[in-house]
Amino acid sequence: MEGHPLTIAVLSIHSSPIGKLGTKHTGGMSVYIRELARTLGTRGHRVDIFTRLQEYGGRAIVQLYENVRLIHLRAGSDGPMSALALYPHLDEFFHEVERFRASERTHYDLIHSHYWLSGRVGNWLENRWKIPHMVMFHTLGALKNTTVQEEQESELRITTEKDLVQNCQRIVAATEREKEHLVRYYGARREKIAVVPCGVNLDLFGPMDKQAVRRQLGFAEGESIVLFVGRLVPIKGIDRLLRAMTHLMLPKPIRLVIIGGDDHHTPEMQNLEHLCLELGVQDAVVFLGRVEHEKLPPYYCAADVVVLPSHYESFGLVALEALASGTPVVATPVGAMETILVEGETGQVVANGAPQLLAAGIEKFTSTKGAGTLPATAIRRSVLRFGWDNVATAIIDQYLDLLRQHRTTGFAGDAAAALFSDSPHA
Ligand code: UDP
Repeated sequence: MEGHPLTIAVLSIHSSPIGKLGTKHTGGMSVYIRELARTLGTRGHRVDIFTRLQEYGGRAIVQLYENVRLIHLRAGSDGPMSALALYPHLDEFFHEVERFRASERTHYDLIHSHYWLSGRVGNWLENRWKIPHMVMFHTLGALKNTTVQEEQESELRITTEKDLVQNCQRIVAATEREKEHLVRYYGARREKIAVVPCGVNLDLFGPMDKQAVRRQLGFAEGESIVLFVGRLVPIKGIDRLLRAMTHLMLPKPIRLVIIGGDDHHTPEMQNLEHLCLELGVQDAVVFLGRVEHEKLPPYYCAADVVVLPSHYESFGLVALEALASGTPVVATPVGAMETILVEGETGQVVANGAPQLLAAGIEKFTSTKGAGTLPATAIRRSVLRFGWDNVATAIIDQYLDLLRQHRTTGFAGDAAAALFSDSPHA
């Protein structure tokens, strides 16, 4: 079936898949879009990713990978725009995509949209082009509003998500938990939700000699290293991790390394620095700022344990990256944690983010041996099934199923016709 190459329009309007990872609005979703597109491209599928032009002077069309193009289109004002400010300009984006498609005389087989803003435009394009549309929300406004946030998610976001959930053909959720959230908070019909987990780049992330990487990174010998990687936003619960530091009883000195954050000094960063002073842990905590994705592997390998103290995660890619590197993870019960962690062996899911519980979890994996209970290679083995190849296979299955469903319910693109020429509906 996969023999016939598909041409896929991917929408990532609000944030660019090549944006700076670790900054406030750019994280797991960008990694997901990039890695999935790259894998689809190597399999011969053609992927055009549409995103809003944010920095003028750059190229409008970037050949990202084999068969994968990133297409920048104008909508709204120059520079970054909040989701709410961008919303009234989505119709401009829709017209730009259609103009682009018409100028190239491209026929897309299906649309894959990411996040609610792209979902909305995907909905319009689906009606214009009469092709299937698959939505991934990545995060859900109603859920974010149940957690700590400096700002509540807008009513506009929640009503748009509700409308998309009711009217789209297929939703891909990254976890069973997300599926349940879609049902409970948005009244989604279960049969239109497919659960496909996120992936990890197994070529990039793998075990390395812990002592050697520690020397290379300039970390002191004989310290236990606890690592956090992610956007420095309240929902990540970094404050809970800082508080956990005051509860640790370890035989060795400890260092908490925090990676992520914007290039400039943000209020979030300042709040965390103040909290360190207040708790008296400032000498044990180091903020490294954001680190290029490709330079992260030695940090994961240098750590004794990676901690994910989040209030909410759609999946939690950082945990997969740590495990693929052979490092155990202590996490709150968010995203995919219960599915990817083997309790007591590759990590621990603590009952909640209480600092004492996080500290107890950290202690388990920062013993005098300085390593988790399993060797790094065994920890890595536990996540080999999450390679992007497997994710791409599962997503292609969804694409084909959607095309098949589309064909049986009325209209079909060329790919559907070619793929299902053997079907009774051909
Ligand atoms: N990341 C990065 N450099 C940083 C901070 C984060 O490359 O300085 C990457 C990290 O490796 C991961 C992604 O950003 O791939 C964060 O994804 P995750 O799912 O953990 O969190 P999200 O951003 O979706 O909340």
